[in-house]
Amino acid sequence: MLIVFDLDDTIIDTSGSVTPYKLREFIGFLIRRNVAVGSFDRSLREIQALDLCCISSKETVRLTLERLQAPHLYEEAMALYSEPLPKNFIIPTTPDAKNVLHILSQRGHTLTLLTSGKKLFQLEKLEKAGLEPSIFSKITVSEDSQKKSHYEALLNEFSQPLAECYAVGDRILMDLVPAHDLGWRTVHMRWGRGKIWKKEDWVDHSICKLSELLEIL
Ligand SMILES: [Mg+2]
Repeated sequence: MLIVFDLDDTIIDTSGSVTPYKLREFIGFLIRRNVAVGSFDRSLREIQALDLCCISSKETVRLTLERLQAPHLYEEAMALYSEPLPKNFIIPTTPDAKNVLHILSQRGHTLTLLTSGKKLFQLEKLEKAGLEPSIFSKITVSEDSQKKSHYEALLNEFSQPLAECYAVGDRILMDLVPAHDLGWRTVHMRWGRGKIWKKEDWVDHSICKLSELLEIL
């Protein structure tokens, strides 16, 4: 099988580690730029509540800046989101992810990573989660959230029958719709932002931890 994994909230617990850290950084930035956010703690609670309903950090930042009448700070705020993490920052994986990847690899499956974001930051997150890049036959970082052409390229490169191509990700629209459109099998990871999406009938499998893949594949 060719298995294409998303990174954030699929292999690593971004929502439980990076997101709360970056939200605090974002509020600190707003305060430094004299945006009237009120108290730090209250603002944090408000933005955290909003973030739980947003499909991306971009949306959280955009909506917050609109509410605070500071949309001009969007680019600067987003740059903050891909700045390096502190040296000792540790990112947990989702439950048992390393072991599951190892087993799948040993079973002879081709594992690849297709993730959206800034390349250096995505690779930094892999490292801070203690994931060995060599477990993946290929790592693709897409600067935007459009994954369709990357799925096509992976299919060409690894030439597997469509019935043996699986896309695994938490965000149905960005990770699974483009793969499904191409005829791939899809696995929805209900973790972090992945919990926002309602069930779709066409999604082949819905899981809450990667070890469930060991039964599916
Ligand atoms: Mg994700």
